[in-house]
Amino acid sequence: LFTDEEKNAEGIIAVLQDITRQQKLENMRREFVANVSHELRTPLTSIKSYTETLLDGVLEDKETSVKFLSVIDSEADRMTRLVKDLLQLSSLDNNQIQWRMENVSIVDIVKSVVEKMRISAQNKKQQLESYVIGDIPEIVADRDRIEQLVLNVLSNAIKYTPEGGEVTVYIGKIYSDVYVKVVDTGIGIPKEDVSRIFERFYRVDKARSRAMGGTGLGLSIAKEIVEAHGGSVSVKSELDKGTEITIKLPCVNEF
Ligand code: ADP
Repeated sequence: LFTDEEKNAEGIIAVLQDITRQQKLENMRREFVANVSHELRTPLTSIKSYTETLLDGVLEDKETSVKFLSVIDSEADRMTRLVKDLLQLSSLDNNQIQWRMENVSIVDIVKSVVEKMRISAQNKKQQLESYVIGDIPEIVADRDRIEQLVLNVLSNAIKYTPEGGEVTVYIGKIYSDVYVKVVDTGIGIPKEDVSRIFERFYRVDKARSRAMGGTGLGLSIAKEIVEAHGGSVSVKSELDKGTEITIKLPCVNEF
């Protein structure tokens, strides 16, 4: 409240601060911690209960013991994957990553990832092909991270496509970007979920993702990597028909 010389009220000064953004960030942080705890607790609970059952006498039964131990083994693997993904996200968040930028051939990177994934595709009797469209210039990028990015997207395509489906990768150039487009004939993503799949821990079908060994972090890591390179990633999908993920990376030096 401020007044004139005769102490008559003249007006009020109010300071309003918009804390919507702060509040949102705080909520996101809380939600993230809750998600992490939940994701870690699930495998721990099953490790604990299988171990207890073994200790309670099942050990004498060799066949059941082996079965239980393999569950424990795969749950421990899940925790390892989760922690690895979390560490990767956290170093991306804190800008701790030393980007090793060099001239790389995106074609070579994509081809090597495709070969790495070939066995998984064969196991699901899927047809996995890659096509290079036109001349693709080299780009300046961190080879290992780009490999990781392509791997995350391609492994999803294989994961979320049923047996006998097709996964096709196109590498091309559009304006001053190179693109990698991964197209699958898989289960697709419902309209209302499409815009959210790059969020941390967002999964359309939690049970299905878990069964496939997913952590719900793969695409959020992919997005961080693309954006750190000045690129973008987009998705088009139709339920029960398939999904198309397009990664675009700028080719500097090309005008
Ligand atoms: P996840 O570890 O669960 O695969 P991601 O972050 O890689 O986590 O993907 C998030 C979610 O997006 C997945 O759980 C899945 O529901 C959906 N998704 C991603 N890629 C595809 C795809 N090619 N086809 C259908 N759904 C997909």
